[in-house]
Amino acid sequence: MSPFALEIKDLHASIEGRPILKGIDLAVPRGEVHVIMGPNGSGKSTLAYTLMGHPRCAVTGGEVLLDGEDLLALKVHERARKGLFLAYQYPVEVPGVSMAHFLWNAYQSVQNGDGSPEPQKKDPKAVVAFRKRLNASLDSLNLGQEFSMRHLNVGASGGEKKRLEVAQMHALAPKVAIMDEIDSGLDIDSTRVVAENIAAMKAPGFSALIITHYPRILEYIKPDRVHVMAAGRVLCSRGMELARELEARGYDWILKEYNAS
Ligand code: ADP
Ligand code: MG
Repeated sequence: MSPFALEIKDLHASIEGRPILKGIDLAVPRGEVHVIMGPNGSGKSTLAYTLMGHPRCAVTGGEVLLDGEDLLALKVHERARKGLFLAYQYPVEVPGVSMAHFLWNAYQSVQNGDGSPEPQKKDPKAVVAFRKRLNASLDSLNLGQEFSMRHLNVGASGGEKKRLEVAQMHALAPKVAIMDEIDSGLDIDSTRVVAENIAAMKAPGFSALIITHYPRILEYIKPDRVHVMAAGRVLCSRGMELARELEARGYDWILKEYNAS
């Protein structure tokens, strides 16, 4: 068994023919939570999308292993079934589909992904248990339970959308979660709530890659490693103190240190 939940080796990817990721090397051991920081336009979101299999991101080289398995060979839904989850920087509104309905279907699909028998789609007990879990998650995120009946993300504020992404993550219980700027646009209380919820998910079977600009959520989450990305590469990987230093000093010094400016 691979000691890594996620292993990215020399990953290259382009958008519309323009190289964006230029040899990413990064490995997240099982059960660890890692952070990616870096100036705007470094390719952080492109990395997240490429891992999830967005058709716009064309992989031009390298390898990605999820639990030791070739991730890049899988379609998007297969990646989700293997336990990969992406919380979007800009969550999309999905009119016409209630959150509960969407998540129940996604949950069934993910649950059924590892060769287990057909899920009990009509099993009222499973539905009730799922509902309870979803309501508890919404409670813990300070979101009203009515959100589960509302159309997914429709009319939600920016901060609510970010918290709804965490609720989705709770519902789907991924093995590897990528969170793209999950704390952007959150007020102080929501930031704490989101951070506490993410921290509470820490477990041997859960690994995460958190993209952020702010060390505030990291004070709660206590990540195992902080990686800095610039111009499509990982410049360096250090401990939590690096996030604090970047907040205090900005990026210029580290870009210079690694000849990336
Ligand atoms: P970050 O998330 O680190 O701010 P992104 O991954 O969003 O960076 O962007 C990296 C680079 O890729 C930027 O130069 C951006 O302009 C470019 N890029 C991202 N998305 C697209 C797109 N859809 N079409 C063209 N260029 C894009
Ligand atoms: Mg981004």
